[in-house]
Amino acid sequence: MLTVVNPATGATVREIPEDTPETISAAFARARAAQKVWARTALADRKRRIARFRELVAAAKDDLAHTLTRETGKPIAQARNEIGGFDARLDFFLTHIDAAIADQVVLKDAAKKLEERIAHEPLGVIANISAWNYPWFVGGNVFVPALLTGNAVLYKPSEFATCTGLAIAALLREAGVPEDVFIPVVGGGVVGAALTELPLNGVFFTGSYATGARIATAVAARMVKCQLELGGKDPVYVCDDVDVAAAAAATADGAFYNAGQSCCAIERLYVHQSILPRFIDEFAKVVNAFAIGDPLDDATYIGPITRPAHITVLEHQIADAKAKGARVLCGGARIARQGSYFAPTVLVDVDHTMAVMRDETFGPIIGIMAVSDDSEAIRLMNDSTYGLTAGVYTRDGARARAILAHVNSGTAYWNCCDRVSPRLPWTGRGWSGIGSTLSVAGITAFTQPKAWHLVQS
Ligand code: NAD
Repeated sequence: MLTVVNPATGATVREIPEDTPETISAAFARARAAQKVWARTALADRKRRIARFRELVAAAKDDLAHTLTRETGKPIAQARNEIGGFDARLDFFLTHIDAAIADQVVLKDAAKKLEERIAHEPLGVIANISAWNYPWFVGGNVFVPALLTGNAVLYKPSEFATCTGLAIAALLREAGVPEDVFIPVVGGGVVGAALTELPLNGVFFTGSYATGARIATAVAARMVKCQLELGGKDPVYVCDDVDVAAAAAATADGAFYNAGQSCCAIERLYVHQSILPRFIDEFAKVVNAFAIGDPLDDATYIGPITRPAHITVLEHQIADAKAKGARVLCGGARIARQGSYFAPTVLVDVDHTMAVMRDETFGPIIGIMAVSDDSEAIRLMNDSTYGLTAGVYTRDGARARAILAHVNSGTAYWNCCDRVSPRLPWTGRGWSGIGSTLSVAGITAFTQPKAWHLVQS
């Protein structure tokens, strides 16, 4: 039995029976049969059902936000933002699917009576093993284009966002997606591992580097297509020419939104030494004013840490940094109240010997480090095994582009951060993953090309 616990109170939200190897195998067999019919369903019909799903999600937004907040502790305003923002992604997929998967004639030679054509076929049955921090966004980036392109999906929500996963399944079914075409699978890591043992046609994973590496290893010898959206240690460099207060406010939000539990949260801040004292003052002012409290309260900006056990990781990073000479400017410890609350923490005098500047934190801690010039900033930004996003704050666009061109990350931000667009590929380098979701690349990822050589006799 999976027990869903509210991290703000410790109360049990719901108990849900977990899947077993037997129920997972049976689900796979049903999905295999249903996928063949789904793939033959006209694209216009598949689109109609996903458009209906979009309407159902919008109509249930408040209830869905409450469900998400109760199981993850995400502040309710941020839960509403996520579900509201899901619309734009659905719109993108619905608008671009036809062109993305249309047959493409690449040669027509009348003399030779030859035609060459590229077709996009669905992969088949895929597993979508997902994370809890943005279940609508990261789940939808996978299951929506997967369904539109004619695949069946075994969807394993995180054990920390299972109520949301089951709500997604119920709404898809209500929208007309056959129940065997989208099957939720309930459980934690053991259940996820059992899923990867199936004869899948693809596994699409969002989660940590450690789990991603395990999944890639599990499916490698069977040549299962494997796409991984993993963690980050995302850097931002604040140049000497910025409006200091504005840059501090923007980067504090980029570091602490959702209590820092975002794959693209700012995890390292490099600030030009000439503005460092002013920047730190402004940054601390913003952090000290954050509203910490009940995630069901509209005014709350920082709620509890979703996985209580993760507090040990946060404590370890702070102790390690302090032992190596860092200074705690704000926060630094868990908050003495009911629930798994951790104070937003700002560390200064940090360096790259410290875990807080190397390992993913995935919580409300930021290290701020002085740099003397752009080349030192580039060197430090690249000193990471991860490569998800990187940002530069400066008034000078040419300078930002020159710096970011040398940074090894899938996404480059100028004067913005913690931002995802459905029109752009969401893609990591190094330990941040393999493959892309979103954009047209995130549609064709769920298809396999067939190369037609057609000669009229
Ligand atoms: P996690 O790796 O602990 O778990 C992710 C999923 O994998 C869960 O559903 C879990 O049950 C499952 N799982 C665990 N062990 C498994 C195994 N051996 N085989 C198969 N499945 C297994 O990650 P999390 O705590 O859910 O999410 C946080 C991580 O996700 C962070 O590292 C974050 O940066 C990353 N993330 C990345 C993106 C992105 O787009 N790049 C988006 C969101 C989150």
